[in-house]
Amino acid sequence: MIRWMKAIAGALGRALAAATGRRDGAGGKVADLSRHRRRRRLAAAFAAPAGTEPDRGSGRCSRCRKEARRLTFYVDEAGRPAGFCKDCEVHAKRRGLLPL
Ligand SMILES: [Zn+2]
Repeated sequence: MIRWMKAIAGALGRALAAATGRRDGAGGKVADLSRHRRRRRLAAAFAAPAGTEPDRGSGRCSRCRKEARRLTFYVDEAGRPAGFCKDCEVHAKRRGLLPL
């Protein structure tokens, strides 16, 4: 029984390793490219006139809600773009958010 389970687990582990290995094996280049693409896609989504991001245009910081002439955009933990004023940018960086 235990031997049987071990065999299944082993096969599953090998299959998983093969699948993830192949994905990683495609090269760090691909990962970098997709990350770059994602960032560009997010930037494009942000630039779209569709009212998906209310902070856009209003010029308000996503953190302190104060009006800011210059907002720096980051991707928050939920993968949503967020604009930060100069003061809050420090906090965004501390949180490890990715700049757009
Ligand atoms: Zn702010």
